[in-house]
Amino acid sequence: MSRIVYVNGEYLPEEEAKVSIFDRGFLMADAVYEVCSVLDGKLLEFEGHIARLHRSLSELKMAEPCSDEELLEIHRELVKRNEVKEGGVYLQVTRGASDRDFVWAKDLKPTLVLFTQAKSIEHSPTATTGIKVIAIEDQRWARRDIKTVQLLFPSLAKMEAKAQGKDDAWLVEDGFVTEGTSNNAWIVTKDGTIVTRDLSTDLLHGITRASVMKYAKEAQMKVEERKFTIEEAQNAAEAFFTSASAFVTPVVEIDGATLGDGTPGPVARRLREIYLAESRARAI
Ligand code: PLP
Repeated sequence: MSRIVYVNGEYLPEEEAKVSIFDRGFLMADAVYEVCSVLDGKLLEFEGHIARLHRSLSELKMAEPCSDEELLEIHRELVKRNEVKEGGVYLQVTRGASDRDFVWAKDLKPTLVLFTQAKSIEHSPTATTGIKVIAIEDQRWARRDIKTVQLLFPSLAKMEAKAQGKDDAWLVEDGFVTEGTSNNAWIVTKDGTIVTRDLSTDLLHGITRASVMKYAKEAQMKVEERKFTIEEAQNAAEAFFTSASAFVTPVVEIDGATLGDGTPGPVARRLREIYLAESRARAI
């Protein structure tokens, strides 16, 4: 059965879905996106992702494609039509199509595309093994707080990690870790403090990051928002990353240095459990 996707008001088999070659998303990466995870056929953190979508659109002076109610309806309809029990819904909004020009017309109609990806996310192997990361100089643009589709540098960094036999890269700027290629980076110090970089335009304001921080505080864990170096991370008790599709995933090696005994630590494992239980309970 072919996947049903959504394009500008229509539900179509993926082979029939079309977007103009003049779309600014295609020509200029003039587009933003969100990914909402699905567990038990329900959406996780929908409100958070939609709130960030509004912010991304507003920062880029891009028009809203439709109401929040319609977005929820489209998400649910796609999950239903594609019988997705576990996986995610990808949403992309572009500024719209017009003849190629750096200057855009004010009245462009945004392009809205959504599709589902059915995959196992709860019991992914990396949740039990942890992942290995390399360090790479962060060469992305300076507005990483906006979730744009400019993902070429993160893709190159991830390919470099794979070429070195590792799983991902942590990006480093002025000596400090900004974030992972598609996730937020965390460490746990030897005294048990959980540390992640403070929010700014240097990194994406992760929806999972915000929830994990809230749940950690509720569980009386000590959380600090500050910068850290690769060297501090290599000497930490534990490390992990957070993202919508990987929840809380342990990191067991950083730029060649093994953390602890090379297996996922107790804090990361506990936070993953708490995060999954809380998100499930709030899923819609
Ligand atoms: N940082 C970057 C660069 C990302 O691309 C992502 C997710 O795609 C994240 C962090 C994690 O954000 P979230 O928890 O909202 O998925």
